[in-house]
Amino acid sequence: MSRRTRLRELGQQLEEKKVALTANHTDGHPILGEKSHGDVGEIEQRTKQYESDRVLAAIDRKHEGRFGKCDGCDGDVLISRLVADICADMCIDCRRTLEARDEFAEEDEVELDFGGAERHEYTMSTTEANKLLGR
Ligand SMILES: [Zn+2]
Repeated sequence: MSRRTRLRELGQQLEEKKVALTANHTDGHPILGEKSHGDVGEIEQRTKQYESDRVLAAIDRKHEGRFGKCDGCDGDVLISRLVADICADMCIDCRRTLEARDEFAEEDEVELDFGGAERHEYTMSTTEANKLLGR
């Protein structure tokens, strides 16, 4: 099956997801899923809101003709990736780069706390080490 056909199918699934999303209303907010009891946990609620936002964002992308396109490099997002996550807006390479950057940012924060630095692999140059030790 051609990529184009697969994309059209997935786009159709996306529209169905949106319909399911807007079919249920609680206090005027669209909620994913069939249940909308008052005892829905806050986390569950937020997860649903997150899902809902992602689906709507993916629909927007579809209408802009960007469904299946990577937001990072403008390349094609693999069909297998879209099947796994229909709202995927990046190819695997860009996603990995982004996640690697996020991890790096976290490490940066940890480095500020020197007590925790030892637990993380942190290498410093001799110059840096001497500066720390006041040499
Ligand atoms: Zn990409």
